[in-house]
Amino acid sequence: MLSYAEARAMVVARTAPVRCEGAALSKKVTDALGDVLAQEIRCDRDYPPFHRSTRDGYALRAAEAATGAQLTCIGEIKAGDSVTQPLARGACVQIMTGAAVPSGADAVVMIEFSERAGDKVTFHRATTPGQNIVPKGSEARAGDVALRAGMRLGYAELALAAQVGVVEILVARRPRVAILSTGDEVVPIAETPGPFHIRNSNSVSLAAQTRLSGGEPVPLDNALDRANDLSAKIELGLKEDILVLSGGVSMGKYDLVESVLKSLGAEFFFDAVAIRPGKPAVFGRCRNTFVFGLPGNPVSTMVTFQLFVTPAIDVLGGARARQLPLLEANLVKTLHEKPGLTHFLPACFEWTGISPEVCPLDWQGSGDIAALTRANCFIVVPADRHNIPAGEKVSVLPRLDVI
Ligand code: AMP
Ligand code: MG
Repeated sequence: MLSYAEARAMVVARTAPVRCEGAALSKKVTDALGDVLAQEIRCDRDYPPFHRSTRDGYALRAAEAATGAQLTCIGEIKAGDSVTQPLARGACVQIMTGAAVPSGADAVVMIEFSERAGDKVTFHRATTPGQNIVPKGSEARAGDVALRAGMRLGYAELALAAQVGVVEILVARRPRVAILSTGDEVVPIAETPGPFHIRNSNSVSLAAQTRLSGGEPVPLDNALDRANDLSAKIELGLKEDILVLSGGVSMGKYDLVESVLKSLGAEFFFDAVAIRPGKPAVFGRCRNTFVFGLPGNPVSTMVTFQLFVTPAIDVLGGARARQLPLLEANLVKTLHEKPGLTHFLPACFEWTGISPEVCPLDWQGSGDIAALTRANCFIVVPADRHNIPAGEKVSVLPRLDVI
């Protein structure tokens, strides 16, 4: 059985040679959060475009500003002012953060280290050339590549695109992810369930996780635990880039997902992972669609999606698989888990300003969605550790949406 790290690597390896077909599309830069860039973006000019002061103070020649030196202030420059006159010898000019430093000046002394009387300014501290100035072109040069195709557009990437003058941006088509729940007990959320029915919450969490990961959810409804119904609904899912099924992958008599997929020509790359919850997770390919069969218990579905489906969405969408964002924190309560599988336990991560701490939550197992709403992460208990005393450092997997 593969470890979760090996299973993730398998997902990346199998999806890497494939890329979603379809033209890139143009979007307003303000609408492209979470998309994958499908073009190269270059700098339109040097950055900064002029020698920029990083402080409010006086622009001067460092060599003329030894401790106790006095210079004549000949004016002021604020952000946005055009600066054409070089600075005369023996002079300084009052300058604001973000303003252009005049030629001749090679340092900015912070206002806090000066004293002014009329137009005479006395400096209390020596300075060195370059201090408090970001030189023109030091961040990037005109023509340099600012952003490469394949980068996921977060707020910093969007800001950089905006900085270099991009209003419309070419982004890759998002992978389409068909979502199919299974189970005779599953009813639509708008219906009143019978006493032994449950509402289809997995289709909701799967669509949310798909969006969060950069995919486009394609909701198919629910298939009954019958080969003909499953087969017909899986066929619909095989039109998309990825098909995610929930339920029907365990060992029960009515867990038919794998056998139906097989009858439709699927090849499997793994059909179990050494984790809990989520052990029966299945990954394969059927025709041109990558297929994930995730166990139906809601927390299993959520954990296995984050571990395995997210990297597939990254790679098929033209990006690199993002890292699993594991953190480290001090365990505040002793853990006892059965060895053999890597456990993912709902927990609360808190950083009090001293050291990060994590506390496991009471829960009723992988059906307990309510417990997960009180959690902001999972503690990752390694397969070979069954007892972890309070005070030890443990790995923590944040929930992608709340940390
Ligand atoms: P399964 O993996 O098919 O054995 O499903 C295990 C359990 O997960 C079921 O008994 C249900 O309680 C729950 N479950 C299955 N499908 C869903 C769903 N779509 N939404 C919410 N819970 C589900
Ligand atoms: Mg089932």
